[in-house]
Amino acid sequence: MTSAVAQPAPAARTSRLKITEIFLSLQGESSTAGWPTVFVRLTGCPLRCVYCDTEYAFYGGQWRDLEAILATVDSYGARHVCVTGGEPLAQKTCLELMTRLCDAGKQVSLETSGALDVTAVDPRVMRVIDIKTPGSGEQSRNLWSNLDHLRPHDELKFVICSREDYDWSCSMVAQHELTQRCSVLFSPSHRQVTPRQLADWIVEDRLPVRFQMQLHKQLWGEEAGR
Ligand code: SF4
Repeated sequence: MTSAVAQPAPAARTSRLKITEIFLSLQGESSTAGWPTVFVRLTGCPLRCVYCDTEYAFYGGQWRDLEAILATVDSYGARHVCVTGGEPLAQKTCLELMTRLCDAGKQVSLETSGALDVTAVDPRVMRVIDIKTPGSGEQSRNLWSNLDHLRPHDELKFVICSREDYDWSCSMVAQHELTQRCSVLFSPSHRQVTPRQLADWIVEDRLPVRFQMQLHKQLWGEEAGR
């Protein structure tokens, strides 16, 4: 009879994420707009929206240990943390990151394209989920089953690129009874629809959605890391 030789246990793998940037700014969107917020921008996105303003997050980035990311976030001393991208959910460890941030007492929000499953996200996280309009060029990527798992503190975001996009978005809001599920945000696509145009349409229709402009762009323009 031969006796098996005990093998040393494999070293525990450290959780890592590919990060484009971590920075402190003001939240420019959603119901948390205006709060000092630490942004954790994860690298990579499987979509290519025509209006994307974070193309610099598609490639590159640096692998960082989860513990180091948490320490960096904490060093800024802000209560609000926004996990964004790119598409943060494209990296599985993102789920662990958000849970750890919640455990640390942070108010955590997630900005996601709406193309990936959001059901495994920690329930303490406010999920801001895009609905991609026809004008985005990525309408076919909408994962409509996400709508069945919305919580009242989640938010749905439409970026409106034209009057056709606006009409399409209104029909989606009505068809899926979205305003009864959570807050719905309508934003004008930069340089495609003026804020005034979109605001007029919403007021004219008494649409129960929240108009929003990107506060950080008014303050700092297109600067990365702001
Ligand atoms: S989902 Fe977001 S990050 Fe990805 S291409 Fe669209 S706008 Fe850019």
